[in-house]
Amino acid sequence: MPEYKPRVGIYGFTGCAGDQLLIIHTEDRLLDFFNAVEMRSFVMASSNPLETEIDIAFVEGSISTEEERQHIKEIRDRAGVLVAIGNCAVSGGPQAMFAKDGSFARRLKQVYGDIKFITNPVEGAPLDEVVSVDYYLPGCPISQSQAMALIARLIHGADPEEFPHPVCHECKLNENLCLLLDQKFCLGPLTLGGCHSACPNNGLPCVGCWGPNPDGNFEEQLGLLESFGIPHEDIIRRVRNFGGYKILAHIEKLSGKR
Ligand code: SF4
Ligand code: SF4
Repeated sequence: MPEYKPRVGIYGFTGCAGDQLLIIHTEDRLLDFFNAVEMRSFVMASSNPLETEIDIAFVEGSISTEEERQHIKEIRDRAGVLVAIGNCAVSGGPQAMFAKDGSFARRLKQVYGDIKFITNPVEGAPLDEVVSVDYYLPGCPISQSQAMALIARLIHGADPEEFPHPVCHECKLNENLCLLLDQKFCLGPLTLGGCHSACPNNGLPCVGCWGPNPDGNFEEQLGLLESFGIPHEDIIRRVRNFGGYKILAHIEKLSGKR
């Protein structure tokens, strides 16, 4: 009997397509991946997609048009498992940094004027605002090692490994001197780990691109950053940059504390 191979589709919505590109750039492991699955749809890497039932859908990008809302629902209906890949799919991305603040119509008009769109724009949102998501692979872009580990486990029918720790956890394992000691604006305590503290390893503060860590002490970090002389509004704007929809509950909590 021929070996059963999971049927896979890789899709992209609004974003820079960096996560799909990163999968293509796995190079030495890409053929192993393609040989282990039946690739039904991966428009960035191959032509003639087959839009049939699939076992696993990997979806990049936020939902920012009415047409995308319909398309992701259609993918959800025919996918056994749906994985959100990258910050835009997981948290909404920078295009959702002002999510739900009531300014969408004004900003749209300010940028595009009275232009007639060929699609119908809606406020950018993560996938799970529209459909159910089974697993999340955050990052901007995602990490190759984390992506390949998740793909391998899903192909073999296992749950992906969880990364519940903040970036600070990885930063300490890498023996970096904490940038907060120099009053640098580092969001490591509030950000999910998985990137192996890529930025602090190189002396750069974390800007939160893996998305919010739900266990982060937002109130304490806000107070600390304000004690560096950084205005409250600047802090909120910067945590929203990659926090998108997922940071809203924490921001509401912070606003209530002031
Ligand atoms: S440098 Fe940033 S990520 Fe590293 S321990 Fe300090 S706050 Fe956390
Ligand atoms: S350290 Fe922060 S900003 Fe840098 S890659 Fe990791 S999560 Fe993203």
